[in-house]
Amino acid sequence: MLKGIAASSGVAIAKVYKLQQPVLEIVRKDADPEEELKKLDAAFAKTVSDVERIKEVASKSLKAEELAVFDAHLMMANDPELRGQIEEMIKNDKVNAEYATEQVANMMVMIFESMEDAYMRERAADIKDVTFRLKCNLCGKEIPNLATLNEPVVIVAKDLTPSDTGSLNKEFAKGFATEIGGRTSHSAIMARSLEIPAVVGVKGILEEAQDGDPVILDALEGTVILNPTPEQVAEFEAKGAEYQKEKEALKAMKDQPSVSTDGHKVLLVGNIGSPADVEGVLENGGEGVGLFRTEFLYMKSEDDFPDEDTQFAAYKAVLEGMNGKPVVIRTLDIGGDKKLKYYTFEEEMNPFLGVRAVRFCLIRKDIFRTQLRALLRASAFGKLCIMFPMIATVGEFKEAKQCYDDARAELIAEGVKVGDDVEVGCMIEIPAAAVLADKLSKYADFFSIGTNDLVQYSMAADRMSEPVSYLYQPLNPSLLRLIKMTIDGAHKNGKWCGMCGEMAGDEIAAPVLLGLGLDEFSMSATSILRARRMINGLSYAEMKAMAEKAVECDTAEEVTELIKNSIGK
Ligand code: PEP
Ligand code: MG
Repeated sequence: MLKGIAASSGVAIAKVYKLQQPVLEIVRKDADPEEELKKLDAAFAKTVSDVERIKEVASKSLKAEELAVFDAHLMMANDPELRGQIEEMIKNDKVNAEYATEQVANMMVMIFESMEDAYMRERAADIKDVTFRLKCNLCGKEIPNLATLNEPVVIVAKDLTPSDTGSLNKEFAKGFATEIGGRTSHSAIMARSLEIPAVVGVKGILEEAQDGDPVILDALEGTVILNPTPEQVAEFEAKGAEYQKEKEALKAMKDQPSVSTDGHKVLLVGNIGSPADVEGVLENGGEGVGLFRTEFLYMKSEDDFPDEDTQFAAYKAVLEGMNGKPVVIRTLDIGGDKKLKYYTFEEEMNPFLGVRAVRFCLIRKDIFRTQLRALLRASAFGKLCIMFPMIATVGEFKEAKQCYDDARAELIAEGVKVGDDVEVGCMIEIPAAAVLADKLSKYADFFSIGTNDLVQYSMAADRMSEPVSYLYQPLNPSLLRLIKMTIDGAHKNGKWCGMCGEMAGDEIAAPVLLGLGLDEFSMSATSILRARRMINGLSYAEMKAMAEKAVECDTAEEVTELIKNSIGK
């Protein structure tokens, strides 16, 4: 059994098809520039028509944004800069076209691979892809075309280029395994969007696998079994069928509302760390964003706090991407374990109990103001809810809200358009705030319970400490009582209450949270459909009765037992 990284889920059982690229032996030769320029011209023309043809095949299975990679390739194949540099070398050095192409390509790849930005580094793969095709065309060698497959196979390759993945015919390409690549490599991203099982980074597979070998690709675990026994085939056929069944069933939930069997509606939304995560939330049927952790924007920045325009662009991208669905953006939550490269926090005995989150923002109001202005400018582009992390007292909330009001007044005076339905809410992560929720809700438009911290502060157990990790007990009745107080406190003043800590996406916790009256559940995008299936199968009335008992239990174990019984597990 070979081990790799599961890059696109599923199970495939078929024969090995080794995809081997032509081996090019390019050597420097003296040549007549005129002849070489003609050859180059023809090779560029064939490269363009090859890519156009692949794009056409790919357009049957890929979405418009995924086809963009081929537009990038066409742009490169038509790029006067690339072509100009090769021509220049042919003319100046009087060398053969394939050699000049190789030299220029290597240099460009090197430049892109050394770039700081991960996205730009990955573009080196595109340059390699296009120039390899160009070189093959110059050498008169055919690149194998996956579009011509005519029997079910698992493709085994060193790596797959975007052109390879684009020309995959899903009817016969049942999956692929590559020697190199990670979860964010092009081939992995493409595999996920084509929904073809893929395992990447399988060291030694090219050597071990032979064309035509029976193979099992378990892209749920990230393993490859060559020449399996009949028992293994039967076992994995069953595993694959089970996975497919579940996937189909979950897909059906995508556009459904999240509503209990007796008509109680809630919102299931996603947690994100960057604008790029919006797509995943929508694909998984998210009804909004319940937590955008903006600190990643600050942590990514190299030498200073991100300026207003940079932040505005990120917030606007999220709001526009969500197309009118509600987006909860949390103001900067830095300190504790989250550090910045360009700012030194004062040493403290207990950083988690020190200058963190809103406490930092209330000390550095200049930094807070920049973020609030960026948020307010973005609010004109969607439904924005802003929330402050780590609020402990009514006074802190009022002070932060005043900063928001000042930024808003300032922008309006400048004639800048801001949204008129922005909600300003409060995270409940500190027991003091949970206990006083009915008072806080007079001032806040909504609450979002951050259970990761609420558990840590209630249990006085550092969330980073392994020896006290047994105290991470979100289902402990003490926590459930704090959650109940928070939800009831919000409702008392007609406000809504969400949850964005990990607990919100936990399948065992969902029934009791529903019963306690939680209005919004925010979780990682991939948990949304499962949570919807769970909630849509529950009776709110029954869960309410169960939750009333849960807060009267003695231990987390008792609560777990009670929940399991109530949902028949
Ligand atoms: C939380 O504390 O539950 C939360 C959502 O915030 P973070 O995990 O970012 O501290
Ligand atoms: Mg927190």
